[in-house]
Amino acid sequence: MALKSWVVSANDPQTDFPLANLPYGVFRHQHSQRIGVAIGEQILDLGACASENLLAPLAAEIIDACTASVLSPLMAFGPEAWTMLRLRISELLSADHASDDTLHRVASALVPMREVEMQTPVQIGDYTDFYASIHHATRVGKLFRPDNPLLPNYKYVPIGYHGRASSIVVSGNEVRRPSGQIKPSLGAEPSFGPSRSLDYELEVGMFIGAGNSLGMPIPIDEAEQHIFGLCLVNDWSARDIQSWESQPLGPFLAKNFATTISPWIIPLEALAPYRVPVSARPEGDPVPLPYLVSSAAKGAIDLTLEVSLQSSQMRESNIPPMRVSRGNMRDLYWSIAQLVTHHASNGCNLRPGDLLATGTISGPAEGSEGCLLEMKHRAEPLRMPNGESRVFLEDGDQVTFLAFTQREGLPRIGFGECTGMIIAAV
Ligand code: MN
Repeated sequence: MALKSWVVSANDPQTDFPLANLPYGVFRHQHSQRIGVAIGEQILDLGACASENLLAPLAAEIIDACTASVLSPLMAFGPEAWTMLRLRISELLSADHASDDTLHRVASALVPMREVEMQTPVQIGDYTDFYASIHHATRVGKLFRPDNPLLPNYKYVPIGYHGRASSIVVSGNEVRRPSGQIKPSLGAEPSFGPSRSLDYELEVGMFIGAGNSLGMPIPIDEAEQHIFGLCLVNDWSARDIQSWESQPLGPFLAKNFATTISPWIIPLEALAPYRVPVSARPEGDPVPLPYLVSSAAKGAIDLTLEVSLQSSQMRESNIPPMRVSRGNMRDLYWSIAQLVTHHASNGCNLRPGDLLATGTISGPAEGSEGCLLEMKHRAEPLRMPNGESRVFLEDGDQVTFLAFTQREGLPRIGFGECTGMIIAAV
C-alpha cells in the first residue's frame, strides 16, 4: 500500500488519519447522512464516490452498501469485501495513482471534517462489556478484598456483562450525571439522588462485522474475521450506585445511563502492521482452555491510550486539558479474539453492528490506571494545574480519550477523539 496521499493533510506526521488508516464513520453534512472514510482533515464521502462511478471495479452490492446511511450493510459482508473496498479507496487517495480526471472527481467527493457532525456509525443491536485487564481487575479487587483481589475464575473465563445499546452516544455529546440509589456508609439507609462518584472507564470497542448463526460457536482462529474494526469506548460509571446495586447480578443502572464511543472505526487491516504477540502469562497462571488458545502469532495490539481531563474552571482560564493517565492495549489479559470466541462459545449469535468492549484498560504502573476508582491507591488525589483536585468527576469536567500506534518506518495511526462533558443531574 502506498504511503503518500494527494490529500495534503493526510501526510502530516501528526495526523490520526494517514492513507494507511482509512477508518469508516457516519457523518451528517448539508442535511443528509452518509458513510465516509477519514483522510487527513477530510472525509471521503462514499455515497458521492458511488454516484461519481468511482467504485466501479467493485461488485454492485458493495457499491450499494456504500450509498447507505449507516455502516451495517458494509459490516455484514465480511473481510473479503472490506479488503476490496479498502484497496479501491486507497487507490483513489494515493499520490502515485489517479489521472487528472479521476483526481478531480475524487476531490469533489471530499468533505472537510470541520463541516460535519459525526453520528453513531450503526444502529447498535447489542452491547457487551468485558473485564479483560487483569491490572484493572486487581486494583479494583484490592479495594474490596485487599488480600485476595482476583476472584478464582478470572484467569479461566473472560468476565463480561450485557450492557445497554440505547444509551450509546458518539463523542462530543454531553453526559448527564445520573441519579440513583446510594447507600453512603455501612450503617446508613439508602437514598435516591445524583451520583457523587461519577467515573470514566477507558476501553477499546470492537464492532462485529459478519455474525454467526444462533447455536454456532466461532472458532478462535476465525474470530478476527468477525471484527469490522475498533473504536474507543468510555463506559461512564457511577461507583456509588454500582456498589449498592450490583450484588448479586452485576452492573445495571450504574453504567447504562451513557456510554460514549469515538466516531471512527479503525479496520483491523490498518492495525495489522502494529500487532504484537500476546504477553506471556505470568508463571503459575493456568493455560487457557483449548477453545481459547489461538495459533495467531500476534494476537495483541500495541495501542497507546491516553486520558485527559479539563474542568470548567480550567476551560474558563484557557488551561489546556491535563493528561491523567497513559496505558497500552497490549497489557490486556484476554485478546480480542478470545473475547469474541468466548462470547459465542455457548452458541450466542453476534450480529453486524454489535459492540463488544474490552473493559477498562489499565497497566501495572501508577499513571496507567484506566479509571479514577483505581487512583484511590495513589498517595495523593489527582491534582490539576490550577490547584483543583479530583477523586471523581465534577459537573463541567470534560474527559477525552486518545489512542494511537506507531512503529519505526510506518506512519502513526490514530483513533480520533472520544470526548464527553459532564452536565448537572436533572
Ligand atoms: Mn467497563
